[in-house]
Amino acid sequence: MTNLPTTRADCAALDVKDPLARFRARFSLPTGVIYLDGNSLGALPAATSLRLAEVIATAWGTGLVRSWNSSALAAGWVDLPQRLGDKLAPLIGAAPGSTRVCDSTSVNLFKLLAAALALRPERTVIVSEADNFPTDLYIAEGLAALLGKQHQLRLVATQDLTAALDDSVAVLMLSQVNYRTGRLHDMTAVTAQAHAVGALTLWDLAHSAGALPVQLAAARADFAVGCGYKYLNGGPGAPAFLYVAPVHHAELIAPLSGWFGHARPFAFEAGYVPAAGVDRLLVGTPPVLSMAALEVGIELMAEADLPQLRQKSLLMSALFAARVERELSAFNFTLISPREDAQRGSQICLAHELAWPIMQALIARGVIGDVRAPNILRFGFTPLYLSYLDVWDAVTQLAEVMRSREWDAPQFHHKNKVT
Ligand SMILES: *Cc1c(COP(=O)(O)O)cnc(C)c1O
Repeated sequence: MTNLPTTRADCAALDVKDPLARFRARFSLPTGVIYLDGNSLGALPAATSLRLAEVIATAWGTGLVRSWNSSALAAGWVDLPQRLGDKLAPLIGAAPGSTRVCDSTSVNLFKLLAAALALRPERTVIVSEADNFPTDLYIAEGLAALLGKQHQLRLVATQDLTAALDDSVAVLMLSQVNYRTGRLHDMTAVTAQAHAVGALTLWDLAHSAGALPVQLAAARADFAVGCGYKYLNGGPGAPAFLYVAPVHHAELIAPLSGWFGHARPFAFEAGYVPAAGVDRLLVGTPPVLSMAALEVGIELMAEADLPQLRQKSLLMSALFAARVERELSAFNFTLISPREDAQRGSQICLAHELAWPIMQALIARGVIGDVRAPNILRFGFTPLYLSYLDVWDAVTQLAEVMRSREWDAPQFHHKNKVT
């Protein structure tokens, strides 16, 4: 690994040489804020407001219903799931025609898990990790109950995954990067292990798409879902995406057989006939305004060089962790993210019994991260709009919060609905 900067001046020098530094001006960020929460809600691209204004005033206001078909700027709405999916595909190593933007990550998990189980009708086990993101596990529980075929969810610790794979397993469902620790799976190796016992893989890319290079096709992943509002900067509640490997397109079943997944939605036929391939997983009318905002985020991310992005992300997270360990050794933080670059996503997580008030005090100083229950301070690194100086200064601020015991103030102990 590149040597870590050891002074603030080193960071400034790295920023001058940073090939991604030019992207910061493409985002609209408030002054006085160091934003380390792009893994929860990505920042606002500078072009989004104008694009949305066009969609609203021109495509909607003037084009009206004509904008579904029109090829005019900010129109062509009927093709948004395909258009955005194909723009996103190179970012996740997917072939054209295998990725669609639609619905939420949770809904896409339901659809793909159901589709995957249908491809393994003799098998009843879904394997996942006990510390996977709750919605993934809730969806699997609910689907298993709905199917009423004795499906069971086998939840294990990461180190027991290999042992949990046998010929009863239909699907291995994992998040590539753990939301709470930042631990990164080797998608190629894990997928090969699942395939060796005849199981399919379903990957959640919520913390990988736009955060690091993903190679779905090369890893031979079967299914994947991911999030539009985190590293893809699509805006609050942005639509999600889904991926199905081309090898499964012909046999794919559509568990939510809505009209947008019909072969001829505007023929208004009596019975359901699935569209070709991954299009049959579309359900209903796309949320055009949200899709338009996400399109800007995807276009911007597509301009970045992903290996450069990964290199900067790893250097930032390593710098942050190293500085925390050096400057904050007196304050009982525990680093719970992997130190090895190959095992780390784009975040650093620190456990501390006072995680909540410490984070609130830090946010009051303009350094924004978040807290994940029960005791984890989470810091996300988004190389397109953060500098090495930001990383350096964020740790300085955290050290000041700890030395001054600012977290002790009563206003920092009040819990919010959203953490
Ligand atoms: C953020 C996140 C989700 C979010 O799902 P929504 O349906 O968008 O609420 C799902 N899975 C993982 C792993 C996440 O990190």
